[in-house]
Amino acid sequence: MPVSDGETLRARDLLLPRADTNREASRRRVLRAVMLAPATQQVAIAATTGLSQATVSGVVQDLQREGVLRVTGAEGERGNRVHLGNITGAAVGVDVGHQRVIVAARRVDATDLVTAEAGIGAQHPREAWMAKVQEMIKDLTAEIGLTLDDVISIGLGLPAAIDPRTAKITQVVATSQWDLTGHPATWFADWFPDVPVIPDNDANLAAYGEYLHGAGHDAKSMVYVKASSGIGAGYVAYGVIKRGKRGLAGELGHLTIDRNGVICRCGSRGCLETVAAGPRLLARVREAYEPYGTTPPANLDELITRARHGDTVCCRVLKDAARDIGFALALASNITDPETVVLGGTLGKAADMLIDPLTASIREYGLAGMFTHDSPLRIVGAQLGDLAGARGAMALGLLTEPPLRS
Ligand SMILES: [Zn+2]
Repeated sequence: MPVSDGETLRARDLLLPRADTNREASRRRVLRAVMLAPATQQVAIAATTGLSQATVSGVVQDLQREGVLRVTGAEGERGNRVHLGNITGAAVGVDVGHQRVIVAARRVDATDLVTAEAGIGAQHPREAWMAKVQEMIKDLTAEIGLTLDDVISIGLGLPAAIDPRTAKITQVVATSQWDLTGHPATWFADWFPDVPVIPDNDANLAAYGEYLHGAGHDAKSMVYVKASSGIGAGYVAYGVIKRGKRGLAGELGHLTIDRNGVICRCGSRGCLETVAAGPRLLARVREAYEPYGTTPPANLDELITRARHGDTVCCRVLKDAARDIGFALALASNITDPETVVLGGTLGKAADMLIDPLTASIREYGLAGMFTHDSPLRIVGAQLGDLAGARGAMALGLLTEPPLRS
């Protein structure tokens, strides 16, 4: 039934599964795609939803008649833009790092983001960072003129491998001491009883964020490496995050690059993380400076800043790391043959300094055809910075249909 002018619909109600028919499911998928990208084109909706253009066109017409969607433009169906009608709702993305959490929120009918960051993360007790996240979501929804009741989905990025079928944690690769076990989709049930929480690995979600909104937005397939305190990666192809059977796919940081190397926190030996993760890079600078009483950088950001100011030790450490990561990316690229490789995480902020040594390594150890093909491998820095994970989380939360409750 068409809504009357001025009536506001709640996004949460519109997404409730009413009847389990294909038509209903298609309507929800189209709605979710428009919420992901307000003012989008029908061809983009078809790409996002996997529905045919004819189906999208029919659904858009139905929803337009009902006042749920608006269509603007007079360039014919291909050029028209599809907008949400008078609909209220908030989408939330949460990115839990080792020592910090970033939350992003926006109204489903607008593209403006509000974000917040706090210095608490997976290294702290779970109850503590969850309470902080709940408070941040409350503040951010207030900032966009909404309340917690308007939240329609929460995408949750965690530094853990998540089983794609059950959404349970498969393994916390970093350390068994972190309070990350079980079923993250239920962790926020006390605070948000009716809101689907969609968990995924943090690097997968950062990859997804860059794929949809950043450095990979015009690529069909993309390998993204998140090089920060740890090293993770995500592979997205044709709109789908490739997670593997157990959610362990893309653990680039635990690819052994030196079988005789030092023992890694995952229990293996000579993993990429043991030579190129943030703590190792800081240790290298410290080691070089110690005999001379020079104060080493306190964190990876400071190390990068010093390299920018010409500190030759910091420059050298970063370039060596880029070569090591490039070596691992050459192996990953030989297996996945992506269109684009993206350097993200904290090292992604130094992409201007690191893309050259990274590329040199991929060229040296990767198959030559990736570079001689008329569509050669693109190797670029990330564009979304620290927000990639939260934005990917928000997108996954928006697009994922939660399982029907019995
Ligand atoms: Zn390892």
